[in-house]
Amino acid sequence: MSLAATPSLTLPSASASAEDVLKWGFSVFGPRIGICTSLQATGMVIVDMASRLAGSDLKVFTIDTGRLPTETHELIGKVRSRYGIEIEVISPDDSEVDGMVSRHGPDLFRDSVSKRRMCCEIRKVRPLQRKLRELDAWVVGLRRGQSETRQDVSKVALDEQHAGVYKLCPLAAWSNAEVWSYIRGYDVPYHDLYDQGYTSIGCAPCTRATSDGEDARAGRWWWETDASKECGIHVSPNGAMRREFDVLLDEVLVRAG
Ligand code: SF4
Repeated sequence: MSLAATPSLTLPSASASAEDVLKWGFSVFGPRIGICTSLQATGMVIVDMASRLAGSDLKVFTIDTGRLPTETHELIGKVRSRYGIEIEVISPDDSEVDGMVSRHGPDLFRDSVSKRRMCCEIRKVRPLQRKLRELDAWVVGLRRGQSETRQDVSKVALDEQHAGVYKLCPLAAWSNAEVWSYIRGYDVPYHDLYDQGYTSIGCAPCTRATSDGEDARAGRWWWETDASKECGIHVSPNGAMRREFDVLLDEVLVRAG
């Protein structure tokens, strides 16, 4: 039986530090825990902290959607050489991407929120789901302060949305200032786009810099005014949008065969 299905697992306390959450994860899940990062600031803190705890014996992976900015690819190389770790780059299914692009075009995300969510589903969510089948736990850099949709983030919880694995968010209670204090204090490599005014970084065509006073995630899908700034990895679409999204996705997946 996988550890993820163990009912008596004792979780860290709600006040556990980020280091303690990571130590707990490494000790309980061993080689079946992975760090998932999009190379944003919080992910870099986690990689640095984890490397101090576990050396180069880390399982780190990232999703290459096919639309990432050049700076993200450059940072992957810097992280590999700085920490002496391998970063597994996982990709969407080619036939699913081809089916979507041939039906809706490469920039379908501009057409509607449903099409944008479908693009995120095919390029991010489905590759992640496939990867998580290999693991009992994953670590991400979510913080409660990042957005309204993330205010209930737990430091450790069973992830019902993704194959029932455990999801660890060691920085759940951290502020943005704490993240950057850690990065400066330990000279952690970080994404070049932060120095160009970006405050949240995803795919190149769907991310812009933000202005003073804007929400940190305002630069993600900035043309959408009434949708949550989420790709579906951490929060699923629901209601009428979910139904429209399901129809679109089914059409593409049928074509992809
Ligand atoms: S962020 Fe944009 S390009 Fe990237 S997967 Fe989502 S919709 Fe597609």
